[in-house]
Amino acid sequence: MLSRDFLTLEGVGREELREVISLARTHADGRLSHPLDGKTVCLAFFESSTRTAVSFDLAARRCGADVISLSEKGSSISKGESLIDTVVTLDRLGADALVLRHPAAGASMLAARHTEAAVINAGDGCGQHPTQALLDLYALSEAVGGFDELEGRRVAIAGDILHSRVARSVIPAFRAAGMDLAIVAPLTLLPQEADAWGVPILDSVDGALEWGADVVYLLRLQNERMNGRSPRVPSVGEYARFYGVARRHLRDGLLVMHPGPVNRGVEIAGDVVLDGASLVPGQVAAGIAVRSAVLTLATGATHEVAA
Ligand code: ASP
Repeated sequence: MLSRDFLTLEGVGREELREVISLARTHADGRLSHPLDGKTVCLAFFESSTRTAVSFDLAARRCGADVISLSEKGSSISKGESLIDTVVTLDRLGADALVLRHPAAGASMLAARHTEAAVINAGDGCGQHPTQALLDLYALSEAVGGFDELEGRRVAIAGDILHSRVARSVIPAFRAAGMDLAIVAPLTLLPQEADAWGVPILDSVDGALEWGADVVYLLRLQNERMNGRSPRVPSVGEYARFYGVARRHLRDGLLVMHPGPVNRGVEIAGDVVLDGASLVPGQVAAGIAVRSAVLTLATGATHEVAA
């Protein structure tokens, strides 16, 4: 549930989503000036990130917060300090919000038990990535004319579902927004829990278009989470033919999404990434407004501004 902490979107409700999306719109329109004045936001990224780290940083600064950035290299994590001790340290130094990216699923939940600061999960292993799904909803609702217009849209989520924290946040969030979902993936890239999601499982992007997809949401092949194991797909070229989007798939009204970073030519053909059908640049741009909204909600700052 969305609360002071933003840890997971499992069980999120439609009205909670609407609240974040409309607050993000308020931020995008510049109608909240420095809601985080006097607050301290700590960005602790213990796994690589470009979009999420930069947009959280910009969001926090534009909202007027003091920002502390921490990565594994250069922090005492590299000396062997535990996550809990790190979190307690940041808490005692006065963090109001802790934005945490970590390679272990569940790390944010653990952190939240050891601090008074609001914890925002910025991606935990194969667990959850709530702010990604929120910004996806924002970008998509902007593209279709508003949050209520999402209802009934058909979204096919294609690719490496097994390793994707994005999928685990997007699925409950898109569902709660009233969209119909299908999954497109080879069996080797499906988690065991996929059956319990109760959505059709399709075997190609062509199949998704026959199913009537309005949106194809591609997920990256996460090679860094497959290390040391036998390959999950026999050939990347063959994978791209069945599970990637090429120009030949584009048709009137079809939207293509991807959380980035894109393996060009694998999930999305190089000439489609920045095509008019692609929401990828819009997803990136949505990051600042949506993360500003999340930071203000998490720290309770909106209520202080409204008062
Ligand atoms: N940027 C997203 C994440 O951090 C998706 C990806 O890496 O493929 O989960």
